[in-house]
Amino acid sequence: MKIYIIPIGDVEKKTLLKLSWVLREKFKAVFEMGKPLPLLEDAYRPKRGQYFASPILDDLKQNIPEDGEKVLGVLDVDIFVPALNFIFGQADLGRKAALISLTRLREEFYGNSKNEKLFFDRAVKEAVHELGHTFGLRHCNNQKCVMYFSNSLRDTDIKEANFCELCREKLEIELR
Ligand SMILES: [Zn+2]
Ligand SMILES: [Zn+2]
Repeated sequence: MKIYIIPIGDVEKKTLLKLSWVLREKFKAVFEMGKPLPLLEDAYRPKRGQYFASPILDDLKQNIPEDGEKVLGVLDVDIFVPALNFIFGQADLGRKAALISLTRLREEFYGNSKNEKLFFDRAVKEAVHELGHTFGLRHCNNQKCVMYFSNSLRDTDIKEANFCELCREKLEIELR
């Protein structure tokens, strides 16, 4: 199985590469860097100062490489969907495409000092979570499980980068 990581707009290469290494272990799949996509400027909402995630996800879906089982778009701008102030990521349940935003995973976003490890741990959790959705996994009630819904970074920091036993079992069936 091949999963593509596709940078959307300007995204730090180092983070993408590190993500691909860690994700390979988690999903036992081949992760490959796909051709970068330009950030959809039409998705920008000046009043909110944010990008609307849904058209970006749609655009990503139009650009899935032929041999790609799944695709993870990574962007570094603040994103939202209408019902929420912001989102960390979005995915098509049981389909092919997911995306995450790195912007709100950095301590600097909140005026705190930089913490590279914390930032990367969060990026991994969000990536595993959104990809989990593409494998049909829904939100899990277990706070430690990576499929637990993160309402805030506190939730993200409490949960682990791994699937609980129940979610892992469901995933294994999909990965078979
Ligand atoms: Zn979710
Ligand atoms: Zn779970």
